[in-house]
Amino acid sequence: MAWSTMIIKTKKEEFESYLEDTSNLKGNASSLYIPQTLGEINDAIRNFYIKKTPFTVVAGKTGTTAGCVAQEGVIMSVEMLNKIIDIDKTKKMAYLQAGASFKDLEEEARKFNLSLLASPTESLALVSGAISTCASGVRGFGYGSIRNYISTISVVLPTGEILEIERGKILANKRVFDFQYSGKSFKFNLPHYTQPSIKSQAGYFVKDNMDLIDLFIGSEGTLGVVTSCKLRLSEIPENVFDGLIFFKKEQDGLEFIVKIKKFKNVCPASLEFFDRNSLRMLKEKYSFIPDAACAVYFEQTVGLGQDYNSLMDNWISSIEEYATFSDNNILADTVREREKVFEFRHKLPQLINEFLRQHSQLKASLDCAVPFEKILEMYNFYKEKGENCGIDYVNFGHIGEAHLHFNFLPKNDEQSLKAKKYMEIFCKKALTLGGTISAEHGIGKIKKPFLKLMYNKSQIEEMARLKKYFDPACLMGLDNIFEKEILFKV
Ligand SMILES: Cc1cc2nc3c(=O)[nH]c(=O)nc-3n(C[C@H](O)[C@H](O)[C@H](O)COP(=O)(O)OP(=O)(O)OC[C@H]3O[C@@H](n4cnc5c(N)ncnc54)[C@H](O)[C@@H]3O)c2cc1C
Repeated sequence: MAWSTMIIKTKKEEFESYLEDTSNLKGNASSLYIPQTLGEINDAIRNFYIKKTPFTVVAGKTGTTAGCVAQEGVIMSVEMLNKIIDIDKTKKMAYLQAGASFKDLEEEARKFNLSLLASPTESLALVSGAISTCASGVRGFGYGSIRNYISTISVVLPTGEILEIERGKILANKRVFDFQYSGKSFKFNLPHYTQPSIKSQAGYFVKDNMDLIDLFIGSEGTLGVVTSCKLRLSEIPENVFDGLIFFKKEQDGLEFIVKIKKFKNVCPASLEFFDRNSLRMLKEKYSFIPDAACAVYFEQTVGLGQDYNSLMDNWISSIEEYATFSDNNILADTVREREKVFEFRHKLPQLINEFLRQHSQLKASLDCAVPFEKILEMYNFYKEKGENCGIDYVNFGHIGEAHLHFNFLPKNDEQSLKAKKYMEIFCKKALTLGGTISAEHGIGKIKKPFLKLMYNKSQIEEMARLKKYFDPACLMGLDNIFEKEILFKV
């Protein structure tokens, strides 16, 4: 095998940082492979298949559910396949290798006045990590998840076969795929569960007559290794302004959100919420935060044909209806001010991760979503249980999509154990309300117990059968989404 440039590390102390993500779960592997070319990825995977070596793919390691944290076998990092191969200005398309970073993509695309408006919030995430978790960033409210922007992906299956999947080319007939590719026949059944009709990233994405590309998007490193992709870009909006509004009463903040959702004259890209506990945590870094009950962050893009002044006036008059801290509110329309507001938005998950690292505790966070008309019921449920459980917590995030990040802040193992029980209670509540146990972070390794609340045994076995079709030797991304033992049984 010609691996002239492949980096292989076999001493654990040399690759310890590849055995974790932001979940704090610790991993285990015998070696790390860092291919530098597509040929080396293909060779490595064929080699894993021949030797029956379990492997886990690692991208930016910013995931929150330990999807990239191997528990056995070897790790393969795609970080060196980081080229932006081409940006086609006319077709508004970016052609990227798996390890390209969003930071580089944005810098390059910006030269052509283009952008991936659905970029994930965490700029250290790599393109294939975001595809594999179907990430949706802070602008999810206005622009949806990355799924909507992926037009082609190249995938190496765990058996070594290569598929280039172009959107619109290979479709299921109801729940059955039956197609020829490079002279080989593929025929397999999709699971029969129905996903909630809201943003959801819980288990494989399936629906009648679906596109093959959508099966691989969000498959959490279990079906095939994404090696490159084509992403649809958009023109950078003519103007953007951001707002950070602090409310004296929580009820006002929540009502403001409901009102903005119904209001046809504003159409934010982001609509986010911070509860009082989130603001207290952030106040350690940002002294300008008043003693507010909650805050709302929004980003408003102003495209061609939209009037900047009337959009701004609509926001101002909506804000003025409520009791807010008008001296502390921020309406930012310069790049510098906007960066400051965005940094504020991004700081909270970072502070939570630091807290958990300091206390050596696993991430105990939820990203349940519910239909929007149920968000106040879900919010009140979180609050009532959270205030009485004896564990600190913060609740914040994508409220415009009825999707909050409820994060426990356990200080010791006993609190972590208790938090887990409450997380189950919260997942059950979200499901009762017609929601999902994960809207964007996926299941990975740490949310598997909750997937069992959403799907029954035979539905999870259907997922396992589907994975086994692509990975008959059960090698790739083991213990993601469901226990590997289920794979061996089906
Ligand atoms: C501060 C912060 C804020 C965040 N905000 C958001 C947010 O707003 N929205 C959101 O959706 N997420 C958010 N996340 C979570 C995280 O950034 C996303 O899940 C991101 O898409 C993960 O990308 P990554 O490159 O770090 O992937 P990794 O964590 O390295 O891997 C994630 C999964 O993808 C698989 N994978 C990686 N590369 C490949 C490949 N080439 N082929 C097949 N499988 C592969 C891995 O095996 C793993 O299962 C946030 C994280 C942090 C730390």
